[in-house]
Amino acid sequence: MLVYTSSMKQIITSLRDFQIKIAGEKNWLADDLELLHSSIALFADVMGGRENFTRLLGEVLIERADVGSKLALAYKDRIQLSATGRLSAWSVIHELAHVWDAKNGWKLSLKLEEFTGGLTDLKLSETKKGIPEEWDAGLKGAESKPGFYGRKPGVNAYGYFYGDKPSGSNWNFNRKEDFAESVAMYCGWGRNNPLSRTAHGRIERYLLPNRTKDPIYGIADNWSDYARYFYPEGGDYTKTKRWEFVESAIQRVNGG
Ligand SMILES: [Zn+2]
Repeated sequence: MLVYTSSMKQIITSLRDFQIKIAGEKNWLADDLELLHSSIALFADVMGGRENFTRLLGEVLIERADVGSKLALAYKDRIQLSATGRLSAWSVIHELAHVWDAKNGWKLSLKLEEFTGGLTDLKLSETKKGIPEEWDAGLKGAESKPGFYGRKPGVNAYGYFYGDKPSGSNWNFNRKEDFAESVAMYCGWGRNNPLSRTAHGRIERYLLPNRTKDPIYGIADNWSDYARYFYPEGGDYTKTKRWEFVESAIQRVNGG
């Protein structure tokens, strides 16, 4: 028991080197703390080291909390992770990306939207409602059946018409989620880390026949039909504008 406690304390102490503070230490399991630590170290590595990481994010408080139906909430100096939901390296990096965006007044996601040729226009989205070729959801929103999750441009709660090819989209997609997912994709793509299977799986699912379940999330959808919206040239995510955008954002952090 003592060993267990001291190892948790040790993780919390080493997180201080990343300017990460843990709130409500008693609400954490050792496994989750370890996952948090390794995910933060992974992100710092991709950013070019701990100094870049802390310069980028400053001090961040991380806590387990009741976040309603969400998995997490991110602010400019705080992340609230669901007290009951499962933690993954993907979700930790996704939330850290939101903090990075928030620290910059949410301008990174705005720039990503511009750079990829997207736009947010709820009125335009309304005009697409019910048009079979353009609207892949129900009239009131997404439905849990193939071809109705709301993946086409503008078919989401925000009227977000993504440009170029994101790795995926659904009813909750908007430019902020786009930025966070793009960062997670960047951290996993072409590497061999806990994000890589998800990053590659998100792209490879578009090679699946329609109405089959993807191996990452277990969702049956018309993947083949969606390839033209999401599958990058030659299946190579580095050919996308999102990869280019995150790459250059990180270069800037590195003073390049
Ligand atoms: Zn998010």
